[in-house]
Amino acid sequence: MKLSEIRATLQEIGVSPVKTLGQNFLHDQNLARWIVSQAQITPEDYVIEIGPGLGALTRFILEKGARVLAIEKDARLANFLRARFADERLEVLNIDALKFDPRVLFAHRRVKLLGNLPYNISSALLLKFLDQPSPIYLWLLTLQKEMAMRLSAPPSTHDYGALTLRVQLYHRAKYLRTIPPSVFFPQPEVDSAAVRLVPRDPVELPERDNELLLKLVRVGFSQRRKQLRKLLREYATDWADVARRLNIDPKSRAEELSLLQWIALANFIAPLPRPDTPLTNEERFPVVDKNDRILRYATRAYVHGNNLRHRAVHILIFNHAGEVYLQQRSRWKDRHPLKWDSSASGHVTASETYDETARRELKEELALDVPLDEASGLGVHRS
Ligand code: SAM
Repeated sequence: MKLSEIRATLQEIGVSPVKTLGQNFLHDQNLARWIVSQAQITPEDYVIEIGPGLGALTRFILEKGARVLAIEKDARLANFLRARFADERLEVLNIDALKFDPRVLFAHRRVKLLGNLPYNISSALLLKFLDQPSPIYLWLLTLQKEMAMRLSAPPSTHDYGALTLRVQLYHRAKYLRTIPPSVFFPQPEVDSAAVRLVPRDPVELPERDNELLLKLVRVGFSQRRKQLRKLLREYATDWADVARRLNIDPKSRAEELSLLQWIALANFIAPLPRPDTPLTNEERFPVVDKNDRILRYATRAYVHGNNLRHRAVHILIFNHAGEVYLQQRSRWKDRHPLKWDSSASGHVTASETYDETARRELKEELALDVPLDEASGLGVHRS
């Protein structure tokens, strides 16, 4: 919409822009098109748009053929959007985005999150949707410029801080461009910027204890001008030794350590246990035909290496709310490391039935002994 159309529409639906809702509407259509283009949207995508307003971005997202869930707090704007885009691919939710449960998004394969965010809630929104595991596959956000710089800052800069590391631990962040106040109505008092976040491959960074790492970061940045040697005294008594081993200046301040150095610091302070049982590649499994009849026995390494059909069980545990308990596979698994998996699972050994394996795995992995219902056979043609 052009500026004149925005003014007229707001008057028609009785909205005078509210500062507390960050109601600054984008009227530069070339810019709106460009912002959407940076998310490389395809018809396979499921797009969450936070704060769609009058639909400046929504229009171009729908043009890409994607399905859109638009979350708008202002009921008058939500109603306007429903009427403006009578499109079955658009669902408008009239709620506070801070109250939305992002876990429902796991039902969709490729979820992208877009938004010219209301600035006063942008950090709360970010932290909510960044909570791990996150269903978001790509983020394209227009934020207050200062915030965008914090997300994408390199070490040893003014903007590099605890938020930077918290975001960059899981994402690559790219500052795309600065956006002047003049493209919005009413004009905000500050510059804005477009930033893109893409989740990192889970094996891209070394294994670490995220909780400890983020605690160290919080303490380290609690007094930016103070040296880490003093701030982290409780965690590392011999700081000179730490500095030597991590190859950092013993007088370093928090902002001088890169993400990799922070990870190395956490791992030095609390070394991670290696898997206590080496991968049991010599364990033997029955190899079966498509009717689940045993053909012969072979080692785990051979079965997996040659993709041979073998027996396994997966157990799904639900709570009363219908939520499923998932576990993350270890980094040391030979197949699909760090992927999310069923509640418990395991291979059926030569001397077991499927039910026996299910009960054994549940006890070994989760110390549970509960009645199980058989859900279905996977990839098995039972004769
Ligand atoms: N996307 C539109 C545009 O670019 O013209 C509007 C952007 S405006 C900066 C922010 C929008 O977020 C407004 O429409 C406002 O009503 C909405 N909003 C504010 N707080 C919200 C919240 N907590 N949940 C959902 N929407 C919110």
